[in-house]
Amino acid sequence: MTPPSSPRSPVTSDAAPVPIPVPNPDNAGFWEGCARGELRLQRCGRCAAWRHHPRPMCPACGSREYEWGLASGRGVVHTFTIVHRPTLPAFDARVPYNVIAVALDEGVFMVSNLVDCPREAIRIGMPVEVVFEPLADGIALPKFRPRRGGGQ
Ligand code: ZN
Repeated sequence: MTPPSSPRSPVTSDAAPVPIPVPNPDNAGFWEGCARGELRLQRCGRCAAWRHHPRPMCPACGSREYEWGLASGRGVVHTFTIVHRPTLPAFDARVPYNVIAVALDEGVFMVSNLVDCPREAIRIGMPVEVVFEPLADGIALPKFRPRRGGGQ
């Protein structure tokens, strides 16, 4: 889902504001966790399966019961790309930048960016850990950096 931009979006170029996520009833727990520096993912109340992106029903068993479980914030780069032509003018000033798909230890995937790493050093299978980047009032984005302290 692409959230709409809003008048309170920070401006990073002269052209366009960066879109800011707008929490909704399905994903509010995720964004509240990010704002506190916690990666919270939905975990099924019946079968305990983790899921992401947030949605009302467990894809494994169909239950609508869930909790916002505290995830490890650890995973590996499943795949990545380097963006040279962004789809939104708001990101023109950032090119080239990376977009990664992280395979989290909980078994779900998350699309994000890798920070603190030159693009030439990004590798599939690289161990990563979550960090949070404040974006706006009450909104922080989960980003990932190379895992520190041995990589396991
Ligand atoms: Zn389930």
